[in-house]
Amino acid sequence: IGEDLKNELANELSSSTPGFNMSKVKEQMFYKVGLADAVDLFKARRVFIKDGFAYVPFKEIDVIVLNNYRTKLSKALALTARSLPSIQSDERLRPLLSHLSHSYVGPDYSIQKSTGKISLEQIDALSVKSFPLCMRQLHRALRDSHHLRHGGRMQYGLFLKGIGLTLEQALEFWKKEFIRGKVDADKFDKGYAYSIRHNYGKEGKRTDYTPYSCMKIIMSNPPSQGDYHGCPFRHSDPELLKQKLQSYKIPPSGITQILELVKGMHFQLACQKYFELTHDVDDIGFSLNHPNQYFTESQKLLNGGRELKKEFNNSGNFQQKNNSQESINSSSTPTSSNATADKELEGLEAYFTED
Ligand code: SF4
Repeated sequence: IGEDLKNELANELSSSTPGFNMSKVKEQMFYKVGLADAVDLFKARRVFIKDGFAYVPFKEIDVIVLNNYRTKLSKALALTARSLPSIQSDERLRPLLSHLSHSYVGPDYSIQKSTGKISLEQIDALSVKSFPLCMRQLHRALRDSHHLRHGGRMQYGLFLKGIGLTLEQALEFWKKEFIRGKVDADKFDKGYAYSIRHNYGKEGKRTDYTPYSCMKIIMSNPPSQGDYHGCPFRHSDPELLKQKLQSYKIPPSGITQILELVKGMHFQLACQKYFELTHDVDDIGFSLNHPNQYFTESQKLLNGGRELKKEFNNSGNFQQKNNSQESINSSSTPTSSNATADKELEGLEAYFTED
């Protein structure tokens, strides 16, 4: 409502809205809503009513939005339940339907947007500050054992690609680490370099593969002994998860909250809580569904809303010219659509036979 009407009704608004004195009425916005939409507030005597309208303060508007959403959702669910038998009998729609609950429809975090924005030297620090727990765990395991089995290489490799590693950087990164372990340079070039180039769409079907979403990580390919991929909130033993969180200096009350969410199988909410605790914010302000989204949001927050700064380093890991070229190359390879990505990834995994 406008200021004039608010001033006219100030006395009534103040006496009928709990917790609102005259000065608070002046500060806050009020909405004039049909009474039918504000029944709950009216029943609880929380709003002023006049001529079939409720005057709802801004802080209560979420009740109206929620009610509205609930009504629409329940209508839509009833409609869906009625139509389901006929839809399910259609052979063309059945596979689509069975994948619906697992499919990811957010941004694909493909390479074009962020290529060349990080240097290899930044990765250790970024893994602590801005990686979600799944990727922090993979990075640690890689640094410790100088190797990751194929599930880890896929999950971590595509994530790194999504945060901006160019193909050349990825080859250098993996090679440097692997040759510190049991793999020599020759074996790396023959056995592993192909699969990295494949990830970047430079081999095989030349598909520009997209990083895994949380749903894919949580729902498919659970880790076995010796694997470090997967989602720690979903796949780790709660006691081990607790120890890991303690070692990352998460406060005990935060760990309890995370473990409660994990117990209720709210893995992504547990991850959001981890984000809040590690970034010292009360409310994450977005709904988490992708590890690369976690990274992007973390960087935005840490850099005060700015994107990750381009950094040049002495070893020349980042060169503007090369990266723009890579970007052009990448965009000439069509990014697979979300609908086909899973299918293509299944094909790709065949290339990763070597552990
Ligand atoms: Fe990674 Fe998603 Fe699990 Fe967080 S919820 S740890 S981002 S898979």
